[in-house]
Amino acid sequence: MTLKNPMVKNYLQRRLVSYLLLFAFSLSLAGGSFSPARAQGPSPTTPATPQPDKVELHQALVDLTNTWTVMCVAAHPDDEDGTTLTVLRRRDGAHTISLFSTYGEGGQNAVGPQLYEELGVIRAQETMRAAKIQGSEPHFLGLKDFGFSKSADEAFKVWGHDEALRRMVLKIRELRPDVIITHHDTTSGHGHHQATGRLIIEAFDAAADPKRFPEQLDRVKPWQAQRLFVRVFGANAQKPAGESERLFAVDPNEVDPVRGTSFAEQALAALQQHATQGPWPKSITELLRARRIEAGKLPLIRYRLLREAAGVPPLPQDAGTPWAGLELPATLIPVITPPKIEGRQLSSFLDRPDRVAAVLIGWRASRGLQALLTGDLERFRLFESRVDRALAVATGISLTLTSRDTVLVPGVQSTFSIDLMNLSMRAVHVDDLQFNGGGESVRLDIADVLLPGTETNATVDSTTPKNATLTVPQEEHLYDGLFPGKHLEATALVDFDGAKFPLHAELSLPVVPAVEIKSISPSPCVRTEETLGLCDAFKVTLLNHLATPFRGILQMAVSGAHGGTTFQLVLGPNEQRDDTLGNYPPGPSRETLGMRRISGSVNFSIKPLGSTDLITKRTVPVVYSAARVGRNLRVGYVPSFDQTLEYSLAALGVSSRALTVDEIKSADLSIYNVIIIDNRGYEAHPELIAANSRLLDFVKAGGTLIVFYHKDNEWNPDEKKNRPQLAPYPIILDDKRVTDETAPITFIQRRHPLLNSPNRITPADFANWIQERGLYYPKQWDAHYTEIFSTNDPGEPPLIGGLLVAPYGKGNYIYTSMVWYRELRAGVPGAYRMFANMISYGHK
Ligand SMILES: [Zn+2]
Repeated sequence: MTLKNPMVKNYLQRRLVSYLLLFAFSLSLAGGSFSPARAQGPSPTTPATPQPDKVELHQALVDLTNTWTVMCVAAHPDDEDGTTLTVLRRRDGAHTISLFSTYGEGGQNAVGPQLYEELGVIRAQETMRAAKIQGSEPHFLGLKDFGFSKSADEAFKVWGHDEALRRMVLKIRELRPDVIITHHDTTSGHGHHQATGRLIIEAFDAAADPKRFPEQLDRVKPWQAQRLFVRVFGANAQKPAGESERLFAVDPNEVDPVRGTSFAEQALAALQQHATQGPWPKSITELLRARRIEAGKLPLIRYRLLREAAGVPPLPQDAGTPWAGLELPATLIPVITPPKIEGRQLSSFLDRPDRVAAVLIGWRASRGLQALLTGDLERFRLFESRVDRALAVATGISLTLTSRDTVLVPGVQSTFSIDLMNLSMRAVHVDDLQFNGGGESVRLDIADVLLPGTETNATVDSTTPKNATLTVPQEEHLYDGLFPGKHLEATALVDFDGAKFPLHAELSLPVVPAVEIKSISPSPCVRTEETLGLCDAFKVTLLNHLATPFRGILQMAVSGAHGGTTFQLVLGPNEQRDDTLGNYPPGPSRETLGMRRISGSVNFSIKPLGSTDLITKRTVPVVYSAARVGRNLRVGYVPSFDQTLEYSLAALGVSSRALTVDEIKSADLSIYNVIIIDNRGYEAHPELIAANSRLLDFVKAGGTLIVFYHKDNEWNPDEKKNRPQLAPYPIILDDKRVTDETAPITFIQRRHPLLNSPNRITPADFANWIQERGLYYPKQWDAHYTEIFSTNDPGEPPLIGGLLVAPYGKGNYIYTSMVWYRELRAGVPGAYRMFANMISYGHK
C-alpha cells in the first residue's frame, strides 16, 4: 500500500478521567474537533486512577527476569507441547517460539467442510489463537501436508530433504533459540513426525555451520542452539533418570498464582483452539478420565537431553527448566538484571505500577553506553523490547491501530485510526508517530503533549494501489504466506518523565477484489453417463466489498472454447448474494463444445461495466466419469461435515434426500432403497447411536445401509459411552491405514456384483486417487461378511477389510474404511463408478 496525501484529518483529545474534563476540553478545542459522542469515562462521582491490568503487568515484569529463547518444534498444529511452552513463558518469562513443519492441511476437519489448503488456513488461525494463550510466537516452515504417512522417507519424498532442512536452518538462524524441545523422535508415529524429529537434529548442527546454506548468511548469522531435548513418553517418562541420562521436567499441575489456574488448564484452553482436530476434553477432570489417570494429577512432563553444543555447561540433575546451568556473557548480566524495590522483585509491586515505572526509568537511564558492550546485541535488543513493553504497561500508555473497513480493495481509499492513550498520572510527550501501510512509513502530526487521563487520535487516509496483490481466496495464499492479509503498523515514540520508549500497534487486513466470488458449488462439477453434458446449475456466492453499488458483467466460459455466457451483475452496497446460474452452457454449445464425455473446466470472471479489467476470476474443474446406476433408486443419506454426498448423488442423477437423525428415528424409511451414513457419522451425530436399531430394521426389511469410515474410538463397542456394536454382525476397527494412494488394489471376489454391476470395475478405477486408500481398517469381523478388496502399503501385510458386505434379513449391510469421501469430493472418476455400484447393490 502506498499513502496518497497522507494527512491527519483531525485529532482530538478527550477525557478518560472525568475530573480532567474541563482541562481536556479546552485543549481539544485548541487542537481540533472534540467528539463528545466518543467520550466515555467513569461517572463524575468516582474519580479513579485507572490501573494497568495486573496479569499483563506481572507478565511484562516476569519477562524481564529471563533472556532465554525456547523453541518447540512440531510437525503439525496441535503437535506442540502447549503445557511446557505455557509454563516456561507464564511462570519463567522465557521467550517461547513454536515452529511447525506444516500447516496441517492434510488432516481431518471435525467441525466444518473445509479440507486441504482451506483447512490449512483455518489451522494456522487456530494455532495463532492457541499461541496467544500459551504466550508463544508461532512460525511455520510451510512444507506440504499431504496426509498421513508412515515413514520419514515418504515425507522427504514430497518435501525434499534438503529443502526442508534449509527452511528449518533459516528459522533457527533468524529466531536464535537457546534451547530446542520437540515431541517427535525419529522412529515413532506419523511419518511427518519422524521426519521433523530427524530434521531438527540435523538443523541443530547445520544452523551453526557457516558452510551449510551459505546463501542465507547475507541475511542471518550462523546460530548455535545450546541444547536439544526430546520428550520422554510412556512408562519411561516417569522412571528416574538413568546414569547417563540428563532430563528436565515441568509439572503441569502447578498453579499459576497470578491467573489462578493450573498451567495444564491454560494449555488445555489453548489446545481447544484447535477445534478442527477435536473433540478435546472439556476439562482437566475429563482429560484425566480419558487418559485413565486415577491419581487426580497429571504426570510430570519430562524431556531428555539429546544433543548439546560443545563446551556447554552440564544440565544439572533434576533440572526444572531446559536452560538450567546455561551461562550468559558476563558483560550482558549488568544490563539485563532488572532493579528491585526494597530488595523485592518488581512483580511484588503490582499494586504500585507508578513505583515500578519510576524504578525502571531510573535503572534504564543509569546503564548508559554499557548496553552497547554486551557481547550479544541481538539478545540485548530482545530484552530491550521487553523493557519497553514493561514501561508501556506500568505507565499505562498504549497505542492502538484500527480500521473502519474490514478489508482493503485495490484503488479504494481506506481510513485508519491511531489512538494513543495516556492512563498515567503525568503528561506524556509524543516525540514521533508513524504509520506504515506496507510501503514507506509516514510521519503523522499529533498533539505533542498528552495530558494525564487523555487520549489522542490521528486518522490516516490511504489508497490501496490498483495493482495490489489480492490475498483472497486465502487458500490460494497458504504457501506464499499472504493468507493473513496485508500487514499494517503504527509506531509511536513517547517521552515519559525523561524516559523515551516506543509503542507498537499492528493490524492485518485481507486485500480483496471490489466484488469477490466467495464460493462456487459444486466444484468440481462431476458428470456421469446419467447426467451427460455440462453442469446444470452452479450456486455462486458473490460479495460486494464496496460501500457503493456495483454494476458489472459475470462471464462463464468453458476452457478451450471461444466466448462464453455473460450475466449482468448489479449488487447493492456491501451486498452478499447467492445466484444460481443454470443450464450451462446453454443451447447448441452443449453439443458443439464437445465436452460431453471429457473433462475440462468452467472459468468464472467479473469485470466492472464498461471496463476491460478483470477484477477477479475462479475456475471450476469439470470431470467426466463413465458411471451408471441402477434404475429408480431412492437414496437417503446422513451427511457429516460437507456436501460431498449431496453433489455425488446429484452427479449420478439419483433421487436423494439428506436425512436428519429425527427422521431416522421416526420417518418412514421404507421409501428409500439405500441409506448412507457419511464418514464419522456416529461421531458427528452421537444421537444416531440411539436410533441405530431403526437403521438395522431398515436393512432387515430389504434396504441397503452403507456406512463410511469411522475411527476405532468412535465405533468400537464401549459400555462407558453406551455404545453397542453398531453393525448387524460384529466389526471391530483398528487404527491401520493404507496411506499410499497408489497402493495396488487386488480384487478378492472378482465376480462379486459390487465389482460388476452396473459398472465393471477394473484397476483403472483406482488410478489418480488422492492422499490415501483408507484408514481405521477393521481388524476383526464376523463370518457373515464378504471381503471385496485387498490392499497394503509397500512392505506391509495386506489389509482385506476395506469393504465388507453382508446380507442381513432381506437387505444388505456395507461397511467401508476406504476414503470414498475424499475421492468423491475430488472428482476421481473411478470412485464414482464404485460408489454407483455400492448404491445399486441388491437393487433389482
Ligand atoms: Zn501431527
